[in-house]
Amino acid sequence: MAAAASSAEVASLAEMTRIDAPSADHSTASLLPRRVAQAEALAWTGPVPPRVETHLAKLMTQAARYKSINQVPGSPGMFDVGSLSNTSVKRRVKMSKDAFTPPECCAYALTKGFPCYHGAAVIMQQYGAANMHKFVDKKHHTAAWKAVYEGATNEVPGQHVVDGIMLAAKKLVLSGDYLHHPKAIPP
Ligand SMILES: [Zn+2]
Repeated sequence: MAAAASSAEVASLAEMTRIDAPSADHSTASLLPRRVAQAEALAWTGPVPPRVETHLAKLMTQAARYKSINQVPGSPGMFDVGSLSNTSVKRRVKMSKDAFTPPECCAYALTKGFPCYHGAAVIMQQYGAANMHKFVDKKHHTAAWKAVYEGATNEVPGQHVVDGIMLAAKKLVLSGDYLHHPKAIPP
């Protein structure tokens, strides 16, 4: 039983690692044309994109299973979370003093910008599920997602603009100012 629970946990963490840097991929409409994905991103008002919301919902479902969460005496911000797969093992979770930083725990929490299950369990107990996104790296937030699209344009410049640039370039060439002078006069 313990081994099965543990491998399920590992598989689930592997699933979690699929969300990484901000990209159009955070959109639920990732298979739709870019213009549609862009519209979705720019209109989105939630603190995190839809795909990150889904990820956090799964994370919280798993984290809610951890019941043994105890503050370490004399160490504010430190918690021991009992492992689900092995009751004799405790995970030490250290809350960060910085905003938008996952609690320190296993390697997952240090590299992915999301709390691990243990960190998420502490956040739910201490701050409530509604505050989970405040412990998620800024790169996973809606602002970063929007930034992928803001200022991006799919429009090609008008023909008169292209013509103007070509004409200006031709004039420069014809003026000779930009031609290199020969280095030596031929004999
Ligand atoms: Zn952990």
